[in-house]
Amino acid sequence: MEKRYIDIHAHMQFSAYDADRAELLSRTQSEGVQVINVGTDLAMSESAVALAEAHEGLYATVALHPADGEQDFDRPAYEALAKHSKVVAVGECGLDYFHLSEDTARSQRALFIQHIEIANAVGKPLMLHIRNGKEGRSAYKDALDILREHARVKGNVHFFAGTLEEAKEFIELGFTISFTGVITFTSDYDEVICEIPLDMIMAETDAPYVTPAPFRGKRNEPIYVQEVYKAIARIKGIDEEIVRAQILANAQRVFGV
Ligand SMILES: [Zn+2]
Repeated sequence: MEKRYIDIHAHMQFSAYDADRAELLSRTQSEGVQVINVGTDLAMSESAVALAEAHEGLYATVALHPADGEQDFDRPAYEALAKHSKVVAVGECGLDYFHLSEDTARSQRALFIQHIEIANAVGKPLMLHIRNGKEGRSAYKDALDILREHARVKGNVHFFAGTLEEAKEFIELGFTISFTGVITFTSDYDEVICEIPLDMIMAETDAPYVTPAPFRGKRNEPIYVQEVYKAIARIKGIDEEIVRAQILANAQRVFGV
């Protein structure tokens, strides 16, 4: 398979694709799109690993999503899966103050630290999910504090929606920042994309969510990541081919794929 693009955060194992996964996989391969499928609980982590085992160009991550943290966390099971050769990161883990009330922040922090410890133990990067509350303190600031104290690995901040200052702090810690199809239809992220260096930027779809223009209204899928690459090139005023090559190099450096 010729590698043309990488979508560093999608969920091809989700039930949204149960009816037509074979066709989805063949379109993804024929467009030369490699995909990291991200786990959100134990079953979805296992399915992501199974997909990666069965298909060239697919990789997996394993974690219990912070918004699903009410489930029991079977740490040994996640740690065993994290050692699999096609698992390229631990996540998505982090802090989600949007989906849970402030009083669950403490249990989210404890769960986040357990994921960081797994990543430290297996020596793989983190795939971070960080989302601010509707009001109140920044989940990004809290995540930075926790990472500084606990993390001995680096990683990527998925679906970045923080401030430019926060983006710079993650980059200083060695974390890349990834953007979704949202950047194709809003200019909210243009300043961050312009100001941070191209070698610290990644592209993702977060499929089946947030379909980019011009496909809005359709179910999202990894081949549409090409629209995210184009948007980054347009916003930064850099040639598309240079953006494509650099993002592939970034994924190779961080995830080894
Ligand atoms: Zn996701």
